[in-house]
Amino acid sequence: GDLISPAENTWCPGCGNFSIEHMMKSALAELSESEGIGLEKFVLVGGIGCHGKLVDYLNVNSYYAIHGRAIPLATGIAVANPDLRVICFVGDGDTYAEGLGHLIFAAKRNADITVIVHDNRVYGLTTGQYTPTSPYGFKGRSTPGGITERPINPLELMLVSGATFISRGYTKRLKPLKETFKEAILHKGFSFVEILQICATYFNRTDCYNEQVYAVADEGLGTASFDQALAKSREWDYTSKTRIPLGTFYRREMPVFGEKFQEFSRREKRREEAVRDLLEGYR
Ligand code: SF4
Ligand code: MG
Repeated sequence: GDLISPAENTWCPGCGNFSIEHMMKSALAELSESEGIGLEKFVLVGGIGCHGKLVDYLNVNSYYAIHGRAIPLATGIAVANPDLRVICFVGDGDTYAEGLGHLIFAAKRNADITVIVHDNRVYGLTTGQYTPTSPYGFKGRSTPGGITERPINPLELMLVSGATFISRGYTKRLKPLKETFKEAILHKGFSFVEILQICATYFNRTDCYNEQVYAVADEGLGTASFDQALAKSREWDYTSKTRIPLGTFYRREMPVFGEKFQEFSRREKRREEAVRDLLEGYR
């Protein structure tokens, strides 16, 4: 309905970005309905890559950042206006390579934003080069002989960096994806959602993922335990054929970045008023 913008969609047929777009649209509509959050309170920030077009396709306030810089922009918006729900869409090349420092620091600071990583494990927009999560041996445009580096494990990285909400979704598991989006947006603090996104054109892992994935909720994971979350996040190393856990791994309440600034500026304002009153008294 109203949430779909008239912009022409240019994603390839079968692209996992469609799932993310549609589930995010439903999540926003449902949150607006159930939590009374006006649609004008959502702000979408996109990085650069195929994923970034999503912010044009949903009819909500949005902003395009430059490559790798969506997160500091989103953090600034959230700090300046804590009433807004800021949702950041980034790619694996975009945020695990170019903008990695920003990702780690947003987690460390517990910035009150939601970061959704469209992890197709390839640079799709630039036609198939390897990224930090491409599997060992990946043959891409720039590496026809196969890469000899091991991929990073983003969940583990986010856990040790201080993220207070960590989950993993998959673009062929739609309903859990929507539920994860809602949980992540409602979480106060830094929410990290890593999505295994199918790239239909340059890295289509549908058959492998379909066989490997399972829901962590089925195993009764206690989401407050750092050690359990760490063990779960290490279950799959982004290369092997072992099972891939999906769902929420970790959730914790912590003070959010910016809260103290507001307290501080309120205190400063009171101090200025007190000084003014005092000076008035001497007149
Ligand atoms: Fe989607 Fe891959 Fe096509 Fe980009 S190149 S639109 S990620 S299928
Ligand atoms: Mg990518």
